[in-house]
Amino acid sequence: MARIFYDEDADLSVIKDKTIAVVGYGNQGRSQALNMRDSGLKVIIGSVNDDSWKKAEEDGFQVYPIDQAAEQADIIFLLIPDEIMVSVFEQDIAKSLKQGDVLNFASGYNIAFDLMKVPDFVDLTMVAPRMIGAGVRDCYVSGEGFPSFVGVEQDASGKAWDIALALCKAIGSTKRGSIELTFRQEAEMDLLTEQGFGPILHALIKDTFEFEVEMGYPPEAVLLELYMSGELSYVFAQAAKIGLLKQSFLHSHTSQYGHLIKAHEVDHGGIKSFLGTALDDIKSGKFTEQWQAEQANGSPVFKELTEKAHDSSIIQAEAKLRKQLGYDD
Ligand code: NDP
Repeated sequence: MARIFYDEDADLSVIKDKTIAVVGYGNQGRSQALNMRDSGLKVIIGSVNDDSWKKAEEDGFQVYPIDQAAEQADIIFLLIPDEIMVSVFEQDIAKSLKQGDVLNFASGYNIAFDLMKVPDFVDLTMVAPRMIGAGVRDCYVSGEGFPSFVGVEQDASGKAWDIALALCKAIGSTKRGSIELTFRQEAEMDLLTEQGFGPILHALIKDTFEFEVEMGYPPEAVLLELYMSGELSYVFAQAAKIGLLKQSFLHSHTSQYGHLIKAHEVDHGGIKSFLGTALDDIKSGKFTEQWQAEQANGSPVFKELTEKAHDSSIIQAEAKLRKQLGYDD
C-alpha cells in the first residue's frame, strides 16, 4: 500500500528561510508560485522575456532570467514543458547548482528515463499535482486542497523527504493527501494513461460514433449522446466525488440494469493486451527513444498524425454541430 501524507506530516519550517525559484510561469508555475507565497515562503520567478514574465510581474513577483533565478535559489521548481526542460537545465541551471540545492519536478519523466544528467550533490524531489494548473490555485484558495504524487529520487542532504513534504504542504496538497511514488512509477503511469487509456477511450468514442451513424442515427444526436452535451464529464466528475459505482445510482434503473448485464461481455482481455503492449514499450524505453528521435528530426510523424486526426468524420461533424449550437460564439 502506498504511504499517504497529510498536513500534520509536513513541517513548513524546514524551508521557511530558503529562496524558491519557480522556473516557468505557465499552467503549474503560476498556481504553485502563488500558493507557496501565500504559505509564507520566499518565491522568485525564472522566465524568458515573454508573456509569462509580464504576468508574473503583474502578480507582484520578482522575475529574473532563468540563470539568475537559479543562482539565487536554494530550491528550483522546474515547471517548463518536459521537452525543453533538459536543454534549459543544461544551459541556464546546471552551472549554478551548489551542495544542498534542491531540484523539484512536477513530472518524473526526464529523470526516470535518464534524459537529464544531474550532479549527485543536489536533492531531487517530485511534487506532481493530480490537478490542472488552474485547479491547483482554486483548490488552495478554497481550502479544500488537491491530491498529488510525492517522491524523492536523490537524497544528498539527508533532508529531502522533509523538504518534499514541506513543498507539498506549501502548494496545498497535503491538505487533501500526497501519495508516495517513485519518479519512474509516476512517469510510467502518466505515459500509460496517455498511450493506453487515452487511445482506447478515444477509439471507443470514435468507433461508437461511426457505428451509430452507419446504423442510421443522425450524427448530431450521436455526438450529443456520447459527449457533446457535457453529460459524460458530469458522470466523470461524480465518479471522482462519490465513486465509480455510486455515480451509477444517479442514473435510471433501466440504465443501471443495462450497464450491469452487458458489462461482463466486454473483451477485457483485448483491453489488457493493448495496455500490456503500451506498457512494454514505455518500460523498455522504446517510446522515449522513438519520441526523442522524432523531436530531433523536426517531428514529421507528429505533424502528419495531427493532420490526419483532423480528417475524420467525427471531427468534421463536431465542427458543424459546434457552430449550429453556438459553442464557438
Ligand atoms: P506550460 O506549457 O504551461 O509552460 C510552462 C512555462 O514554460 C510557461 O511559462 C512557458 O512560457 C515556459 N516556456 C515555454 N517554452 C520555454 C522555453 N523554451 N524556455 C523557457 N521557458 C519556456 O507547462 P505546464 O505548467 O503545463 O507543465 C510544467 C510541468 O508540470 C511539466 O513537467 C508537466 O509535465 C508538469 N505537470 C503539468 C500538469 C498540468 O496540468 N499542466 C499537471 C501535472 C504536472 P510561455 O508560454 O510564456 O512561452
